[in-house]
Amino acid sequence: MFKKILIANRGEIALRVIRAAREMGIQSVAVHSTADSDAMHVRMADEAICIGPPSSTESYLSIPAIISACEITGAEAIHPGYGFLSENAGFVQIIEDHGLKFIGPTADHIRVMGDKITAIETMKKLGVPCVPGSGGGVHSLEDAYRIGDEIGYPVIIKATAGGGGKGMKVAQSRDEMKSAFQTARSEGKANFGNDEVYIEKYLTTPRHIEIQVFGDGKGRAVHLGERDCSLQRRHQKVFEEAPGPAIDAETRARIGKICADAVADIDYAGAGTIEFLYENGEFYFIEMNTRLQVEHPVTEAVFGVDLVREQINVAAGLPMSFQQEDLVVNGHAIEVRINAEKLPNFSPCPGKITQYHAPGGLGVRMDSALYDGYSIPPYYDSLIGKLIVHAPDRPAALARLHRALGELIVDGIDTTTPLFHALLAEEAVQTGDYNIHWLEHWLEENT
Ligand code: ADP
Repeated sequence: MFKKILIANRGEIALRVIRAAREMGIQSVAVHSTADSDAMHVRMADEAICIGPPSSTESYLSIPAIISACEITGAEAIHPGYGFLSENAGFVQIIEDHGLKFIGPTADHIRVMGDKITAIETMKKLGVPCVPGSGGGVHSLEDAYRIGDEIGYPVIIKATAGGGGKGMKVAQSRDEMKSAFQTARSEGKANFGNDEVYIEKYLTTPRHIEIQVFGDGKGRAVHLGERDCSLQRRHQKVFEEAPGPAIDAETRARIGKICADAVADIDYAGAGTIEFLYENGEFYFIEMNTRLQVEHPVTEAVFGVDLVREQINVAAGLPMSFQQEDLVVNGHAIEVRINAEKLPNFSPCPGKITQYHAPGGLGVRMDSALYDGYSIPPYYDSLIGKLIVHAPDRPAALARLHRALGELIVDGIDTTTPLFHALLAEEAVQTGDYNIHWLEHWLEENT
């Protein structure tokens, strides 16, 4: 087992990894920008190294600075968290070239899944159901029109390198194709340096269902059921739960097996998520994330596992601690994302926290790097906390979420907490009867 690992991230996910490492008797090294000198991950880690100025390109994304921090501290492995360099195949290659270990899958797997076109090609070959579409890159407007006519409108044009909801445009009809095609291309170029796009049927009433998979890198893999992340704003998740209200045990076992077999086939190592849209009883693959997801705690709650510990074990060459038969869903878990944002526009709201109180009690987990007097810097993501509740069933989990939200105090800035209070009062949220467009419509009507 490693003696010391470095966490190439900040915020709540850095704490998440430091905590797992400490329980395993592993020393942790935090890295931070000058804007994060007072951050909780710096305080909590065994050692901390400043790797650059506030701008993430010069700090959390600076590969030479992170490798140097490893060399200075003697850390043997790097956990990337999510975001930043977590899905950067070049980073993984460099880590390995330096004789260090990346806690995650291989550079090849990251590369294949990071390009959405090669991801779809690979998944199709592995027997995973995909959205009807172009199947490959679409390079001219004429081809885009032809494919639009073939698959039928509405269609969605997506940047193959896209992520975080960027580089996606819907064309409701042929008239909208030209501008959607051009916008998706230019967004792909501007945000990801790649203007290649592909086209898919735009599903009008799907749920977002994703399957958590875990592989040992040697041909063994399991699935840990689904998460339903259908409540989204601008293609970004805000409320996630496990199990999915629309998925029964038989469906879970069927799609779960397809996913576990697919990742076993390619000798996938560590945690991964295979994302689907789910409509009229059918699954349609949209992408695979080759990292730990923000919403992983709901899966940990219902399966009683520690995914980060498992990631570290597998990276160190140890076997997985569970087999498929051990993984049984227990109860229901919900996560809400607390962002430093001002409603109704969700505009970023950094600033000083004058008072912070985390909810607690039975079945409540608060993953957050906040503390009294902390100043949230304006340079990074607005996620400041994740409130996760676990209860015997969905109604009990909703009641627990309501109770826990009532205990949460974040004074000094605006947060998205009031959104969740309002959502919990909605019948659709109580019954779980919604699709990926429901929240956008609700926001239009209610703000
Ligand atoms: P990103 O990598 O930017 O997160 P995804 O491909 O995972 O992009 O899609 C994000 C979200 O966009 C999905 O959860 C869904 O809400 C919407 N979306 C993506 N593809 C389609 C599609 N073919 N039809 C309808 N909605 C889609």
